[in-house]
Amino acid sequence: MQRILNFINGEYVAPVSNQYLKGFNPAIGAVYSEVPDSDERDVALAVKAATAAFEVWSNYTQEQRSDILLKIAQGIENRLEEFALAETNDQGKPLWLSKVMDIPRAVSNFKFYATTALSLSGEFHKTDSQIFNYTLRSPIGIVGCISPWNLPLYLFSWKITPALAMGNCVIAKPSEITPMTASMLGEVCNAAGLPKGVLNIIHGLGPKVGSSITAHQDIKAISFTGGTKTGAEISRIAAPMFKKMSLELGGKNPNIIFDDCDFEKTVKISAAAAFTNQGEICLCGSRIFIQDTLYERFKNAFVEEVKKRKVGDPLLDTSRVGAIVSKPHFEKVLSYIALAKEEGGSIILGGGPVEVPGRCKDGWFIEPTIIEGLAYDCRVNREEIFGPVVTLVPFSTEAEALKMANSTQYGLACTIFTENLSKAHRVAAKIESGIVWINCWLERDLRTPFGGVKQSGVGREGGFEALKFFTEEKNVCIKIDS
Ligand code: NAD
Repeated sequence: MQRILNFINGEYVAPVSNQYLKGFNPAIGAVYSEVPDSDERDVALAVKAATAAFEVWSNYTQEQRSDILLKIAQGIENRLEEFALAETNDQGKPLWLSKVMDIPRAVSNFKFYATTALSLSGEFHKTDSQIFNYTLRSPIGIVGCISPWNLPLYLFSWKITPALAMGNCVIAKPSEITPMTASMLGEVCNAAGLPKGVLNIIHGLGPKVGSSITAHQDIKAISFTGGTKTGAEISRIAAPMFKKMSLELGGKNPNIIFDDCDFEKTVKISAAAAFTNQGEICLCGSRIFIQDTLYERFKNAFVEEVKKRKVGDPLLDTSRVGAIVSKPHFEKVLSYIALAKEEGGSIILGGGPVEVPGRCKDGWFIEPTIIEGLAYDCRVNREEIFGPVVTLVPFSTEAEALKMANSTQYGLACTIFTENLSKAHRVAAKIESGIVWINCWLERDLRTPFGGVKQSGVGREGGFEALKFFTEEKNVCIKIDS
């Protein structure tokens, strides 16, 4: 049994309550860790440490801060195998995926913000020959970062790195479902020389720890990634306190396939977009709209392609689909497959749990599931499932594809497949989403704005956007005597 501790003021400490939650390994369906059941008292201790640390950290030069972040990146990279195994045991994703995606991306997040922060400059505006303005940027102070379970260290580090780079001190809360790699990060930060109290990691339940972070009067900004309902709850508390907020929320992303696409490429990328990480990526394309002239051909090839995605023990290189992160989520995904049947859908592949023999016999695994025959606006096609389930829906015209794709409350990402450049641009401009991929999926350039429209979020992460979010701007106007 591995006991996780909070990381406050550079030290690993037990929660004030001395109570622990059960941490599960989803691949074996059993408890393997203890997670601090922290509350507002632990958050208060973290804020006290961060307040003292801010005096130190905010006075470091940009180069000094960047040097430490680069050392943290190196520290994670040195322990890549260990971090990857911890991520897989906590989350259920295949180990090879943790090695090539999650942990390398956490390393990149530290490297990227360490270096990008060095080139963020202020602005200068000359009004006339006597008057000019310059803009100062200062850190906000203490900020809260709350992250979800699907890409644990990847998203945790994506939030905390721009905050740290700009001189803020952070109170961070990883998901209580996948806290392991965030808890290991404290060791790396200490070894890299991050001053104590600059990063504090508090574990526990959202309505206890998350809401204490949101409500604490000394925490001036909240950067949140998670579900839309939770985002609304955070806004309800933080908005009347006039806190800065960045909200990255749910998605129900369309994948629009025109009959003039590069067929082989489209089939392969659509399968990856649907089922990578068990479909537990906010950017997964879970509604596939196919031009009716291509529908049957695509469906048959897609089913054959998805059949190659073997569900299995996440520790095996041959497993393409791992375990579902938790028992409640496993049940939620299955309930949507049942709903699809009630709504008139036909399951053309998968549709149920998978028994993986051996050590994983009690794990939570679901077959990649493909459903057709549903109305584009039924519940299964409107609500986020966040699992290995996709629907196929035919369309005839570009206008119809757009109407169907835009018919949900979400607007995070979209994928378009066509070899007609004009059509690609037209559809990209009209689609209601913050991110559009044309003939590709999950190609990420960390300099680009990242985020959603409608109920998929408020604000943008990535590039200078995130660095600016974690600063206060002050315009200074000077008039020179003539
Ligand atoms: P969640 O909203 O349940 O939890 C996210 C985090 O918020 C966790 O750390 C949780 O403990 C905390 N939390 C829960 N209730 C809280 C409260 N009342 N106050 C403060 N914090 C609280 O989401 P999840 O189930 O962990 O993650 C899945 C969701 O995240 C999906 O909807 C997915 O689309 C979304 N997501 C979005 C993005 C994006 O970039 N837009 C990326 C990944 C995941």
